[in-house]
Amino acid sequence: MITLKPPWRRDLACQQVVELVTDYLEGALPRGARRRFEAHLSGCPHCTEYLAQMRRTIELTGSLTPDDLTPRMREEFTALYRRWRDGEDQPPPPGP
Ligand SMILES: [Zn+2]
Repeated sequence: MITLKPPWRRDLACQQVVELVTDYLEGALPRGARRRFEAHLSGCPHCTEYLAQMRRTIELTGSLTPDDLTPRMREEFTALYRRWRDGEDQPPPPGP
């Protein structure tokens, strides 16, 4: 279980996505939570990108542990959400 503490706590829904993403990817979410999770993703490109980054990490490492979330990734996620929160309504750039 990731213990990442994101700085964008005011955005409760996005915060919940961040907290639930590992459970979602592990298939551990109950159906109702999973539906809410996917409903949020469908309207939030930022969380969609976050999920995609997580998936990429799992593909690369075969698993997802707190150690896999490098400080650099945290910085990128933080910057992504700050840009969004500050009103620069640009979609996130495609991955590397
Ligand atoms: Zn979101």
